[in-house]
Amino acid sequence: MGARKPLIAGNWKMFGRNADLAEIGALAETTGPAAAKIEVLICPPAVLIAPAAWQARGKSILIGGQDCSPSAADAARTGEISAAMLADAGARYVIVGHSERRQNHKETDDLVRQKAEAAIAAGLTPIVCVGETQAERAAGQVAEVVGRQVKASAPGQGGAFVVAYEPVWAIGGNSTPTLAEIGEVHALIRETLAGQFGAQANETRILYGGSVGPKNAGEIFTVPGVDGALVGRASLKASDFSAIILGHPAAV
Ligand code: PEP
Repeated sequence: MGARKPLIAGNWKMFGRNADLAEIGALAETTGPAAAKIEVLICPPAVLIAPAAWQARGKSILIGGQDCSPSAADAARTGEISAAMLADAGARYVIVGHSERRQNHKETDDLVRQKAEAAIAAGLTPIVCVGETQAERAAGQVAEVVGRQVKASAPGQGGAFVVAYEPVWAIGGNSTPTLAEIGEVHALIRETLAGQFGAQANETRILYGGSVGPKNAGEIFTVPGVDGALVGRASLKASDFSAIILGHPAAV
């Protein structure tokens, strides 16, 4: 197996309009030379996926969704978007089980796994998010919570997905775990995947997410076992996001 290619993914959440798609062109211009070594992904809101994919055509930026239906087949599910529809619109990846969906939409590990499997069936690569809350960290339950989430949310097909370790308390704020803590949880996730998928687990990329920005990305990327990042706020502007990407050791 070759080395895992780093992946740096931007989650635009419920931000962005057509006019903001110009950021994709600007991002491609600055990060294009690094594209052979680093995969760059933007996950805009669902209504912008098709125009974003059009904007990114012929460029080094990949487009992804932020969620998908657990139903692989077309179905009577008002308001839902299937993974096949995302793929048809030009997506290559989809985020599943983001903590905002686990918390606000009561998504369970089992539902997240079904979504990840539907994504794979549609030819997409799911990015499965896991991470502990502040209370769980304070109670010393990080390994238990994250281990359980990985085991129960990972799709059956080892290697065909990405895991994003996103401590819930680090999202949208200014604090992150220490580099040592990030390294510990990434090692735990890799060990858990190895228990499930054997040697195939070496192919799964594990991203860190939660308050990654141009100032701290470089040091986070040096942590052993960190294969890239999932970035929220700092992915909205090409200037910030490209600074993060160009701060990766593989970019130089
Ligand atoms: C996220 O929501 O996935 C995220 C990491 O957000 P932020 O980078 O803004 O903390």
